[in-house]
Amino acid sequence: MSERWLLRGATVVTCDDELGDLPRADVLIEGGKIAALGADLGVSDARVLDVADKIVTPGLVDTHRHTWQTPLRGLGADWTVMDYLSAVRVKLSPHFRAEDIHIANLCGALEALDAGITTIVDYSHCITTPEHADAAIDGLERARARALFAYGLAAGPEPSAALPDTGARLGDAERLRRSRLASDAGLVRMGIALTEMQIPWEESKKEIRAARGLGVPITLHCSAWPVDKSEVQLMAGEGLLGADLLYVHCTFSSEDDLRAIRDSGGAIAATPETELQMGMGFPVVGRALRAGVRCSLGCDVVSSNGGDLFTAMRLALQVERGAENARVGLPQSLPFKAARVLRMTTLDAAESIGLGTVTGSIRPGKDADLVVLSADALNLTPLARPRDSVVMQAHAGNVETVFVRGEAVKLEGVLLGHDVGALRRRLVASRDAVLERAGGAAGLLGDIGRLAEHWDMGGAAIPSAAGT
Ligand SMILES: [Zn+2]
Repeated sequence: MSERWLLRGATVVTCDDELGDLPRADVLIEGGKIAALGADLGVSDARVLDVADKIVTPGLVDTHRHTWQTPLRGLGADWTVMDYLSAVRVKLSPHFRAEDIHIANLCGALEALDAGITTIVDYSHCITTPEHADAAIDGLERARARALFAYGLAAGPEPSAALPDTGARLGDAERLRRSRLASDAGLVRMGIALTEMQIPWEESKKEIRAARGLGVPITLHCSAWPVDKSEVQLMAGEGLLGADLLYVHCTFSSEDDLRAIRDSGGAIAATPETELQMGMGFPVVGRALRAGVRCSLGCDVVSSNGGDLFTAMRLALQVERGAENARVGLPQSLPFKAARVLRMTTLDAAESIGLGTVTGSIRPGKDADLVVLSADALNLTPLARPRDSVVMQAHAGNVETVFVRGEAVKLEGVLLGHDVGALRRRLVASRDAVLERAGGAAGLLGDIGRLAEHWDMGGAAIPSAAGT
């Protein structure tokens, strides 16, 4: 049974439309839930955390993260999407062993928790044996993060003896759904990540129907470069759109595609930092919101960029404002509000993976996924508009304490239950071993033509040489 806690005297940013922001409130945590919320609750028999001069927010929700790439941190600061696909998907992914996936997911989930992200959609597309899948789940569970483990159905570049075809991979996903991920009440729940749609459409249909048979949320990379016929059009033509789909990127989605996603109840995960860097078009956030599509944010890959949502929120907001302001000249007002992007990263994100009644806002009865931010730090002092300051001034270094389902996973600056130094050594050793097996970092690029052996890019032009 989890501990009973009283967070006393905080500025509570609930992200709940009815409750709004509470200037000085207590939060009672009991049995993993938010048991009560209000001024001076008068509770004396709970462990007290004095959070006067702090902000309490819901845990942030990252709706697109390839957690397995944590050991590759920083290799791709200057990579295009084609560089990335060549280096990571073609050259490095075959050299990940199950133990590499485990340490990657453990450290990656802890990195997220450390930065106030309590829920991750883990798009786990480096599964070459059943042991890889179990290792990925083990890592998430060990970190005590809430996660949608989206089993990646994509094949690696080399044939896998253990999982040689789509049928075998679907069978392995079904194994997990029938065993350790049978319950949708656990912290780690089952999802499916489709192979990119540029595989034969018949295979994609098989994946979608099998995923629906498992009754789990489905996520897919979608329209990250111009294609002849979009994934949304293909699926709409077969009546396969649905509210269980989370579409990632959609930078090249047409207005018709956005309306189709909205009308079918689907949602979008945008990852502005990777999209802006890698040449995946302009982030869809503004267009998606204007079209009425539920939209959230993800960090995507720490192999290239950062792993915290404070950066993603500010980037998503300001780049959209920049584009709009450049279009209108001197703006009369800023239609995209700071509070809107916080809502995207909390409640909207939770709703997009079916967790809107569980997490994403602070309301009695919901699970206690909570973040305490140091509003007494200089970068948050004086505090004028708390909700806006979470977006505009806060950073991951302000995350002091984190609860997941009422359990403190980080307390007053310290990740609990882990020897972070030992984990760091294991992560570095994993990185070194993967790179060594892959023949070293120097040869990761320059072989982009091989991509065409593995993926039909849907009509996108593949540059003929690296760095072009
Ligand atoms: Zn991705």
